[in-house]
Formats: sequence, structure tokens, C-alpha cells
Amino acid sequence: MSFIPLEHKAAGHEGAMQSVDGSLFIKPVSKQELEFYTTMQAQMQNVDDEIELGSKLFHWVPIFYGTMSPGVSEELREKNPEVSKELQDSLDSQPDSGQQYLVLENLVYGFKNPSVIDIKLGNVLYDENATEDKVERMKKVSSSTTSGSLHYRICGMRIVDSGKSLTNFEGPDMKKAARKDHNHLVFDKNFGKGLTPNSVKDALLLFFRGNNLSPKRQEIVLENTIRRLQLLYNCLLDYEIRMVSASLLMIYENDEGRWEELDNQDILINEIEIDEDSSEEYLPRALSLLRLIDFAHTKYTPGKGNDESILTGVKNLLGVIQTL
Ligand code: ADP
Ligand code: MN
Repeated sequence: MSFIPLEHKAAGHEGAMQSVDGSLFIKPVSKQELEFYTTMQAQMQNVDDEIELGSKLFHWVPIFYGTMSPGVSEELREKNPEVSKELQDSLDSQPDSGQQYLVLENLVYGFKNPSVIDIKLGNVLYDENATEDKVERMKKVSSSTTSGSLHYRICGMRIVDSGKSLTNFEGPDMKKAARKDHNHLVFDKNFGKGLTPNSVKDALLLFFRGNNLSPKRQEIVLENTIRRLQLLYNCLLDYEIRMVSASLLMIYENDEGRWEELDNQDILINEIEIDEDSSEEYLPRALSLLRLIDFAHTKYTPGKGNDESILTGVKNLLGVIQTL
């Protein structure tokens, strides 16, 4: 299987990729993130069918498929030992040849023209593994951004360039802060770090309203986002966990044709499809979605209570999105 750089990326480091068909997302493995996903997967085995959709953490994270290292498949090795040896040698000579990758569901798969936003949750941005230097740095980032004041911060967003000027915006034109990329506007992490409790609201307004969707469709996205945040909040109340620097990833469809095709029927939360007919091509049918991502600094903390830092972020975000 071949991989290419991730097409619709909101934020984050280099190294995120997707499969050519778009269905899989891969990023370099970190031990802690792999641990999070394997623990979560073990928990999935022990639940009955009666669980309420949205009540478990695995309803809110990308599907985890496993890990992968670049290499030559068994199949090719058997069919064509010579070519396969040459390929393996060339792979081995690459600088990052030992790199393992986490294989996840690509959340933008199925969307024709997505807008994507990455919002980092919490006011504590370091864990006990951080160096003294990093602790200092992260404290500064928190106290000088909405991470500190609101417990959430926009890390980045990639939205359609609707050509609309949003008249209800106060202050300077936000779009000037964007980089143009084809028909999209890309806002980087410095944009998010520069936002205040006032202007972050405008940025969210730009994300949810600065598109060419009809008001009715914008309402559907907003209402479902609000409902999801409420369900996620309740779900997190059942977990004793610390999710340092995890993000919410929110995506919605801008392609009118796809809205029509699906008769404006968005899916609130995906049912987990447990391998029905794998011969049938599976295309997700959501018009918008919300997931938690990025668990490189997440760990379960039995006996230590909820992650208040994250919960407050979700609650504050919910509050502002309800005003949009
Ligand atoms: P990093 O450790 O670099 O911050 P993230 O896990 O936050 O890595 O991913 C970086 C970016 O990649 C996110 O901002 C998001 O746009 C995208 N991304 C992350 N996970 C997925 C996924 N499962 N499907 C699609 N896009 C994803
Ligand atoms: Mn991230």
C-alpha cells in the first residue's frame, strides 16, 4: 500500500499521511499514543450492544487499525524475489527506515470539499515527561493564549474560500491572516495563538458561517456540533484520564451535491461498523463530524478523577458555539 501527504490537514507536525484511496490516516508512532489506542481497543471488546451511542470514548476517536512499518509485502516477496530485494534495500537505506506508523481511520474520507478545524483542549499543555525547558515554554503558551483563559485554542483550520466578507465581524479582517491554497484558506498555529477570548469567537464564526452553504445547512452543522459536544462532555465524565494537548477535530462538507445526495441527513455519531461485507465499497455518509485526536500525551489515571482541564474546554467551547 502506498501513502501520500495528508490532503486536508488542519494543524500538526510533518509526517501525517494518508493512503492513496484516502481511507487511512497514518502518523509516526509514539509509545504513549499507541498505548492509548491499544487500551481503548481492549475496552471495546468488553461492551455489550446496548451501550448508548456517544457514551464511550471509542465513539469519539478515529478507528484504530494497528501499526505499520514501511516494507515489502509477503506477496511481492514470493512473486518476485529480485524486485522485492531491491525495494527492501532502497527502503533500508532511507534515513527513517525504522519508523513505525499508527494506522487510523482518515476522518476526512468521504468528504468532497471539507472544512477542517483543530482545537487543542485544556489549559495544561505539558505532562510529567516534559523537560524543565518544555514546562516553562508550555506555561507561557498557555498563559498568553486562549488555552489559559478558555481551556481551548484553535491550532489551525483549513476552510473553503467562500469569497464572502463577513459583515458581522468586528476588528481587522481575519482572512488577511490566511494563506491561500487552491480554493481554501489555511490558518496556522500562530493565527490561533494570537486570538483573544473575543476574537476566537469571530474565528469560530468564520469557520462555521464563512462558507457558501445555505443557512439551513449551516444550522444542521452547528446543531449537530452542539449536540456532539454535550454528549462528549457527558462521556468524559465517566473517565479518569489526562488528555494533555489532545485536540478536537471538526469537519464539515461544503459540497452542495453531497448534501443533496444525502438529502441533508447528517449522522450525529457513526456506528462502529464491525466488518460487514468487506467486498462492498464503504463510503462514510456523515456531512459533519467531531472527534478527539492526538493522544501522544494522554494516559489513564484511575482514582484521580476527571480531566477538569479538558472538561472546562469542552464546556466553554459549547458555550460559544451556541451563540453562533
Ligand atoms: P501532531 O502530533 O502532529 O499534532 P495530530 O494527531 O494532531 O498530530 O495530527 C495532525 C493533523 O492531522 C491534525 O490537525 C488533523 O488535521 C490531521 N489528523 C489527525 N488525525 C487524523 C485522522 N484520523 N484523520 C484525518 N486527519 C487527521
Ligand atoms: Mn496535534
